[in-house]
Amino acid sequence: MSGLPEIVADLRERARYYATLTDLGLPPRAAAGPAESAASPDAGSDAGAELTAVRDWVGDCQRCKLAGGRRNIVFGQGNPNARLMFVGEAPGGEEDAQGLAFVGRAGQLLTDIIEKGLKIPRKDVFIANVLMCRPPENRNPEPDEIIACQPFLEKKIELIRPAVIVGLGKFAGQWLLKTAEPISRLRGRVGDYHGIKVVPTYHPAFLLRNPGAKKDVWEDMKVVLSLLAE
Ligand code: URA
Repeated sequence: MSGLPEIVADLRERARYYATLTDLGLPPRAAAGPAESAASPDAGSDAGAELTAVRDWVGDCQRCKLAGGRRNIVFGQGNPNARLMFVGEAPGGEEDAQGLAFVGRAGQLLTDIIEKGLKIPRKDVFIANVLMCRPPENRNPEPDEIIACQPFLEKKIELIRPAVIVGLGKFAGQWLLKTAEPISRLRGRVGDYHGIKVVPTYHPAFLLRNPGAKKDVWEDMKVVLSLLAE
């Protein structure tokens, strides 16, 4: 970002994004209150131990209305020192049952993208979601839920500090880039999250319904590979 016009444009876009999170008429600060009032673990040298501390901080989370309907909190899993991180939307039925991110049909496709496409063992990346609890009937995340989960995803990224984050689908892409732009406009460009390169792409569940979009995702994964090689 160079000059004042770009900074103003960025602030405007962020304001548009946060406006989408106040659709319910909830002031963001009020909705985030319980999560923010909890003690936040400090960053340390051992990302694995620090992530465990973040999981403890999440606890038996009751910070939003999804708590009542979930079976398991899906914190996210993988290598705490990963150079590549994936952020999805929210757990589905299989993830809720197992307490693990991306273990259903969309997860199998994501595994193929990582292992067959990128040629990276899945255990070497870190996978998380914007939400840690399954929304009923897999509906879209709601603004108060996104805001309640936000401090935890922020802390995970801060501790892992990957070189590249892939944002899977609209909710992850918009969360990472603090924009209200649709994923079709976000993908194809490299974004920035606190100095970390962000590659937004289509969600694997979208690819299951629209296999023709796989070629776009492959283009995005080639960008990921070149960024990892830098
Ligand atoms: N879809 C997501 O966005 N995340 C998961 O963990 C599973 C499916």
